[in-house]
Amino acid sequence: MTASESTPEPTPQHSTSNNSAVATHPLALAPVTGPASTVDGFVRQFLRNLNYERGVPLSASSDNDRYFAFALTVRDYLVARWLEDLRRQRETQAKGVCYLSAEYLLGRQLDNDLLASGLTEIATEAMASCGIDIDDLRAQEVEPGLGNGGLGRLAACFIDSLATMSVPNIGYGIRYEYGIFRQTFEDGQQVEQPDAWLTLGSPWEFPHPEFARTISFGGHTETYDDEGTTRTRWVPAWNVQAVPYNYMVPGYLNGRVNTLRLWGAKATNSFDLRVFNSGDFQDAVSAQTQAETISKVLYPEDSTPQGKELRLQQQYFFVAASIGDFLDHMLAPGFDLENLPDRVIFQLNDTHPVIGVPELMRVLVDEKKLEWDAAWAITQKCFAYTCHTLLPEALEVWSVDLVGRLLPRHLEIIYRINEEFLAEVRERYGDDEIKIRNMSIISEFPERSVRMAYLATVAGSKVNGVAELHSQLLREKVLPDFNEFYPGKFTNVTNGVTPRRFMRLANPGLSELITEAIGTGWLTDLERLRELESYAEDPVFRKAFTDVKAANKRHLGEVLRVRDGFEISDGHMLDVMVKRLHEYKRQMLKLLHIVTLYEQIISGRVAASDVTPRTFIFGAKAAPGYVMAKRIIHLINAVGTVVNEDPRVEGRLKVLFPPNYNVTLAESLIPAADLSEQISLAGKEASGTGNMKFALNGALTIGTDDGANVEIRELVGDENFFLFGMSEPEVEALWAKGYKPTEFYQGDENLRRAMDLIASGAFSGGDKSVFEPIVSNLLYDDRFMVLADYSSYIAEQAKVDTAYADQDAWTHAAILNVARTGFFSSDRSMRDYIDRIWHTRPLL
Ligand SMILES: *Cc1c(COP(=O)(O)O)cnc(C)c1O
Repeated sequence: MTASESTPEPTPQHSTSNNSAVATHPLALAPVTGPASTVDGFVRQFLRNLNYERGVPLSASSDNDRYFAFALTVRDYLVARWLEDLRRQRETQAKGVCYLSAEYLLGRQLDNDLLASGLTEIATEAMASCGIDIDDLRAQEVEPGLGNGGLGRLAACFIDSLATMSVPNIGYGIRYEYGIFRQTFEDGQQVEQPDAWLTLGSPWEFPHPEFARTISFGGHTETYDDEGTTRTRWVPAWNVQAVPYNYMVPGYLNGRVNTLRLWGAKATNSFDLRVFNSGDFQDAVSAQTQAETISKVLYPEDSTPQGKELRLQQQYFFVAASIGDFLDHMLAPGFDLENLPDRVIFQLNDTHPVIGVPELMRVLVDEKKLEWDAAWAITQKCFAYTCHTLLPEALEVWSVDLVGRLLPRHLEIIYRINEEFLAEVRERYGDDEIKIRNMSIISEFPERSVRMAYLATVAGSKVNGVAELHSQLLREKVLPDFNEFYPGKFTNVTNGVTPRRFMRLANPGLSELITEAIGTGWLTDLERLRELESYAEDPVFRKAFTDVKAANKRHLGEVLRVRDGFEISDGHMLDVMVKRLHEYKRQMLKLLHIVTLYEQIISGRVAASDVTPRTFIFGAKAAPGYVMAKRIIHLINAVGTVVNEDPRVEGRLKVLFPPNYNVTLAESLIPAADLSEQISLAGKEASGTGNMKFALNGALTIGTDDGANVEIRELVGDENFFLFGMSEPEVEALWAKGYKPTEFYQGDENLRRAMDLIASGAFSGGDKSVFEPIVSNLLYDDRFMVLADYSSYIAEQAKVDTAYADQDAWTHAAILNVARTGFFSSDRSMRDYIDRIWHTRPLL
């Protein structure tokens, strides 16, 4: 490597001077304009793209050709706005938000971009005039699944909101070649298939290999004399290239387009060549493969961080590329770095990008030659940290050994940050060694490691949790010493979801109904849904609302029929639990409810005809290494097979588990749901965002007092929410007293019978061993107290049945859920971030 590596030229997006010679052509000086916004204009551009980009005539085009040409055409309309936005951001040098996130669970782009550009009708007509059904094009798109679940989807919602609110923003992340695995079932068990989302190419990305950045690893550090000052430099051992891929992030009908910049790893050419020239072709290829594994695949989320070296490589790779990109390309010539905090805030989405803190210090001190104290003052103002968890064991730590091996200079910097921080702690508390050990960024047990959450907390200007309860627990339980030490540093921003995707696109029927009632404008001002409250009293509106729900159920039925060969029975309540499979989310509790209803029927204790007809829908992926989660998936499928086929049930209970839950499926499922299951053990779900999507689409929630459920219930009112289970303090009290699951098992006949039925092998062809580990886990070793909340859950589900029997009252409550949950727009989350953390302004 590469001390001689020259700084890359500015990207075309940010260049100011270099291209002046080629930019003087009169035609190049004219503003960039998109194609004509007419059906003819669209068709012309579509055919041009088909011919010139795909190299085919319409008559010989494949489905993929047509999808590509169509997507490129939509893109063409947005590009002019994008270029204009970039120019204005460059010109004004307004403070921007760099959102650093290892995950973006984007979902399909086509419809979103059509909506944002207001082109849906023109495009539909244009395609029809070519004899093409736009739905066939939609179906071609493979969603980029560059995230695991809530955290990645949140990042996608946030960048949508920032664009819609005209706030300058770059989303930075990783362009994983393989996103979250595609889930299939074999004999009811999860099988993971690689998510080859790029096989047919992606029309949405703009690769810029010419602006690749060199990202270094390994080696050692040394000091040198720089005109009388002793400085440190890092002498790395190896490096990879980070290639930027740009994606447009259009705002909703506001003509604004922000940028999402994802980095792909490429082997460094010089490195390859050296090995190749030595004659070892195999080694040259394997070194290349090695380098490129960095962005090869998304890590499946585990609740416990694993000491995976590659994961730390991924984190440093994208963060170093992003920070370097911003400093090199977004600052005006001669920019004084002391003013960096007025120009940018780097928001850390969980601990994954926290290695960016020592990276910025390294750049400022070693490369830009700032004094340590000045650099630290800048760094502390340029970062803010969002914590997404409550499980203390899920806070990332990296062994000092690994960090030192991979990033030796960063380890030195972390040590110095810690030293100075602990000196402050000592100043305040004296030599309270316990305090010092508890607050140290370096922990000593079980091995010497870096606590990334602590580093982020020390470095961040603000630290936020993602719902009121979570932020409170963060202050009181997870990071109490830091809360005491840094008064005012901790704050809350309750999560939100974008109503463009999760209402307007996912639920066009409801959106139209809302617009008919309260007019337009609510999609960007979601609190206006309040105006629907009075409509809950209007029988005509209630009827229309019911009709929309029924149509959404039919649509879901059609989707599941085509996708999975499932059928949805008429007249069933749709009871939906979709989210990643995790013990803390307690899919097992839902399953025990189902097994209980089933057992009551087959034991003859309840007549099938007295059971409220329900279809239970699950959607959940389990992390491939999470054995218990995979067993639970197996059991859900096994119960489904038995229950669905047992004639004694008379078709009144059905269990459906469509595989591969993703954003696209969520968009069909959520608008059709009657009941939303949000049943985590209190104190475990930081926020949840699925809960918000359901409420906004008029499902009623059965839920614990956890995460954002608390705020949902406060807003919709107790009478429109099915609350059950222990509160967080009650959970704590039960642990303190001693949780004895067998007592709950003995104390509730329904529970005993349900558990015994599973243990009997009834769902595993008589083989008791298959699900025995689940049963014994619940009875002897369950950290998430499923059995403790069982009775309360079953009782509340009975109230759900009663409530559902009065359809008119149910609809009334459902409308109030929609009307009162406008707070959960991610636009509001963004406003809170801006007011409480970022202090940026829309670029008007
Ligand atoms: C919203 C969403 C999630 C998050 O769901 P939670 O219930 O909050 O865990 C996960 N996956 C997908 C595809 C989503 O759309």
